[in-house]
Amino acid sequence: MAAVGVARRDALFALARATKGFMPDDEGVALYEAAMVAGMSREGATIVEVGAWCGKSTVYLGAAAEETGALVLSVDHHHGSEELQRGFEHFDEDVVDPADGRVNTLPTWQRTIALADLEGSVVGLVGDSPTVASRVRGGVAMCFIDGGHGRDPAWADYRAWAPLVADDGWLAIHDVFEDPRDGGRPPYELYLEATAGAFCEVGRTGSLRVLRKLRGDGAGRRGGPAAPAR
Ligand code: SAH
Ligand code: MG
Repeated sequence: MAAVGVARRDALFALARATKGFMPDDEGVALYEAAMVAGMSREGATIVEVGAWCGKSTVYLGAAAEETGALVLSVDHHHGSEELQRGFEHFDEDVVDPADGRVNTLPTWQRTIALADLEGSVVGLVGDSPTVASRVRGGVAMCFIDGGHGRDPAWADYRAWAPLVADDGWLAIHDVFEDPRDGGRPPYELYLEATAGAFCEVGRTGSLRVLRKLRGDGAGRRGGPAAPAR
């Protein structure tokens, strides 16, 4: 990579590290590297992020999108998951909107993307993840799932997005903990389901699992709670 490219990437990594959120540095770099491979795999690749919070992981994905000509669609309703609400472990008073008392990370996320000068490579989609997925075409080069970690939201994300990943595309899942003492079960269950079906594991760093879709079948068909009727 040219020197200017390296400097730009390092500046983006520094910004990501300084951004509030839930992505350890080494996992962020691994996410960036997976997105680089996905971004280079095709012309004009689409990379989907499910769960952006204040934009920490978005910057890692955006850095790769900028370098490869991909576009990140960053999906979040920005009102926080269950575990980010008042009274829960990761609640943050600073992201409460005084107008209505609700968690709202959209202004912070927007500021992060503007500070990163990534507005040309990242588009925010503000809304419920499965609802957004229902209007997105398939052929997604890479999908990063880091939204709600409760059983229902996690499975809803998996069911909505895994089928939209291109047959040779990548699926990254965050907060996958083999040992229940390290964290909640649902992301690990999604990982098991994915790797029992259409995906195979191609990388792991901390709780980040990077999978690749090998066949067009299998995703979301086996195990887990019954799919809601549509
Ligand atoms: N990737 C982030 C952390 C994401 S936290 C980082 O690097 O720091 C999980 C995010 O998922 C929260 O911002 C929450 O608002 C979002 N989320 C949870 N359920 C959602 C849903 N159904 N639709 C859209 N976003 C959702
Ligand atoms: Mg996470």
